[in-house]
Amino acid sequence: MKLETLLVHGHKSASFEEKDVAPALHLSTTFERERDGTYPEGYSYTRRENPNRSQLEAALAALEGGAGAACFASGSAATSALFQALKSGDHVIAPNDAYYGTGVIIRDFARWGLTADFIDMADLTAVERAVKPGKTALVWVETPSNPQMRVTDLAVVAKIAHKAGALVVADNTVATPILCRPFAFDVDFAMHSTTKYVSGHSDVLGGAVVAREASATWEKIRAAQHFGGAVASPFDCWLALRGLRTMALRVREQSRSALALAQFLATHRHVERVYYAGLPEHRGHALAAKQMTAFGGLLSFTVKAGKEAAFKVAGAVRLLTRATSLGGIETLIEHRASMEGPGTSTPENLLRVSVGLEHVDDLIQDLGQALASLD
Ligand code: PLP
Repeated sequence: MKLETLLVHGHKSASFEEKDVAPALHLSTTFERERDGTYPEGYSYTRRENPNRSQLEAALAALEGGAGAACFASGSAATSALFQALKSGDHVIAPNDAYYGTGVIIRDFARWGLTADFIDMADLTAVERAVKPGKTALVWVETPSNPQMRVTDLAVVAKIAHKAGALVVADNTVATPILCRPFAFDVDFAMHSTTKYVSGHSDVLGGAVVAREASATWEKIRAAQHFGGAVASPFDCWLALRGLRTMALRVREQSRSALALAQFLATHRHVERVYYAGLPEHRGHALAAKQMTAFGGLLSFTVKAGKEAAFKVAGAVRLLTRATSLGGIETLIEHRASMEGPGTSTPENLLRVSVGLEHVDDLIQDLGQALASLD
């Protein structure tokens, strides 16, 4: 089946059978056992499994073309579960511009004996240099990266990692499975903050790990989910599944608008640089064109006059909303470095824009008048 069809029907591959056309919400934390001690539907306790979570997991696994998915209470909980599956002494390679919170989680795992190198993942010779055969257990990729929009060659990184005996995880939050299918490039796990494009309406926190195939590592991630317990609530799963069904339409429209907005910003007198792989001058343009079906709804730009001027632009918008996060239907603008923390690699004069579903002419008009406040 094609992606659009999987978005609408993918949840039906969950073992739970129901006749509701719109999925029912199962808030019960516990399920009755038969007299013989069995659970005919397979559900016993909601931390372990819940029909709404199973439906979302089935839909995400179908969408990514994986063997299974595990849904968590946030993207960060999904990230943590992946590192919980490693062992003390393992070595990890991660991008030096990954989502800020991912870097925090990886550095914190040093307390449990994990070592990590942070590199420019778009530089394949840096990846070659960083792998330690037999010691590197996991290579983390985020493409395009948030917020610097670097593009990483998934197939080549997977080849380098696998040769060294390491697994590859792609944070597919920004690209979404609509635009990029990591398993087609031999990646082992896809990770999502379902808070973003999957849910799509800025009203759900969630995360997911999708496994390309069953493995001992996948079992450990499942155990971190069941026993660690940072699971997504039934209602959040229900909302995420509702959002997921329109994701293709949203993401393609957001990509179209983001490209138009990037083109507008690229020629603006107050803009220093636009970070968007849809622009031909972007370092990762050709690779993104090969690896993705469109360039996505997220972009960043730097303001020539510096940090204070960037704040002034964010302060002058009238239609865009000043808020963190991304992937919702409303366009958000954010001074990213001030939301991050010590050691961030995000430029101080960078503004990130998550393009929503407003008409692009209105977005261009608003950003234009906000930039004109610098005249
Ligand atoms: N990965 C990326 C690329 C993100 O943008 C985010 C959140 O912004 C996360 C992971 C973490 O997700 P959550 O906020 O759902 O914990």
